[in-house]
Amino acid sequence: MRIDVDVAVVGGGAAGMAAAKAAAQAGAKTLLLERERRLGGVLDQCIHPGFGLHRYREELTGPEFAHRLIHELEHSGAEVLTEATVLAISEGPELRVASPHGLFRVRARAVVWATGARERPFGPLLIPGPRPAGIFTAGLAQKLVNIYGVLPGKRALILGSGDIGLIMARRLFLEGMEVVGVVEIKPFPGGLLRNVVQCLEDFGIPLFLRHTVIQVHGQKRLSGVTLAEVDERGRPRVGTEKFVEVDTLVLSVGLIPEVRLLSPLLPREQTHRGVVVNGYLQAQVPWLFLAGNALVVFDLVDTVANTGEEAGRNAALFARGELPPARSVPVRQGANVATLVPQQIVPGQPTTVYLRVPRPFARARIRVSGGYEKRAVGLRPAEMVELSLPGEATLGLSELTVEVIPE
Ligand SMILES: Cc1cc2nc3c(=O)[nH]c(=O)nc-3n(C[C@H](O)[C@H](O)[C@H](O)COP(=O)(O)OP(=O)(O)OC[C@H]3O[C@@H](n4cnc5c(N)ncnc54)[C@H](O)[C@@H]3O)c2cc1C
Repeated sequence: MRIDVDVAVVGGGAAGMAAAKAAAQAGAKTLLLERERRLGGVLDQCIHPGFGLHRYREELTGPEFAHRLIHELEHSGAEVLTEATVLAISEGPELRVASPHGLFRVRARAVVWATGARERPFGPLLIPGPRPAGIFTAGLAQKLVNIYGVLPGKRALILGSGDIGLIMARRLFLEGMEVVGVVEIKPFPGGLLRNVVQCLEDFGIPLFLRHTVIQVHGQKRLSGVTLAEVDERGRPRVGTEKFVEVDTLVLSVGLIPEVRLLSPLLPREQTHRGVVVNGYLQAQVPWLFLAGNALVVFDLVDTVANTGEEAGRNAALFARGELPPARSVPVRQGANVATLVPQQIVPGQPTTVYLRVPRPFARARIRVSGGYEKRAVGLRPAEMVELSLPGEATLGLSELTVEVIPE
């Protein structure tokens, strides 16, 4: 069987739903494919408040935010297929899809890739010791507790202070587990400041900065971990080792955009280090657009939904042959910029640039070549900075460098 559409959207999280809605509203025959039974993506398991402050000017839980988007999607005219897993994508563009009803193909004029991010697992951390039960990624622990109503253990340590780890420290504590602390190798927390306060400080959960786990112990089940302080290069300091008895280790050590299926279409470094997009969120394969955490890991779902809408609108224009050709110039990472998206822009067009800093800055100026500057206070690696550049700021430039200058 083959379904023909203008725009196919892969992934039914916040980014995919926003993309499908925007593409359908722009007049494109749109199909959204989601592998799970329900739409919402990771929002479904995020039952804490803190979503939607920018988009809806309300503090919603993850499922509430998802319901708002589902409602908007239902009124847009986009078709939705759940339990539909995209297995492969190729020129055409064509998607191969598996569902409980069998295999089928989707032929589209443009595709929005909105497959979210996956969690960095335990293996690549190369922590010595056995591999007993009791080691969970934070997202999995969250799913166990919030979706299946099961506690992962009795006494937990969280490794990594990203937002998911901070939120899980509070969640496990509230559900009755003993939470020994959160361990962070860097000298500053990885997550949002509000989460450090609301998830750790408010509950007396300690945060061990400049520490890491150097060994795990236990046979069938985790019996404990050895912690150590680290020096400024992240190496364990001899003599600071400490055994901590826990039966659960929760990992919050990073998210990786889920773009492995794009590898036949794009150069290898792009499917490893991030897909290069221009100001339309369009990849180097022109019919392919990226949105949400599949593009770059965002801290706020509001931004994820914005990228979805932008990608969806542009995909609809591309499908009709109305997207002006992108005469793109490169965007370069200057000093103190750790992440920068998009990597190309169309000079003279209003563009939103997203960036992260590598370490905290109390005060700084964000400077863009061509003279545009913006003052910023309290820049932190966990928080994505959104820089809206008016068309005049980039007019006539042959490349754009973005740098952060501490004050
Ligand atoms: C624990 C946690 C707490 C958070 N807290 C906040 C908060 O307080 N405030 C806030 O604003 N943001 C928060 N966020 C961030 C925000 O929730 C996410 O950035 C956002 O929901 C990601 O949306 P997405 O659509 O990019 O990805 P996802 O939600 O991951 O959606 C991707 C979808 O793609 C589907 N998919 C993947 N591959 C395929 C395939 N091959 N075929 C078909 N479907 C596929 C997946 O099943 C999934 O449904 C939090 C995130 C987490 C994890």
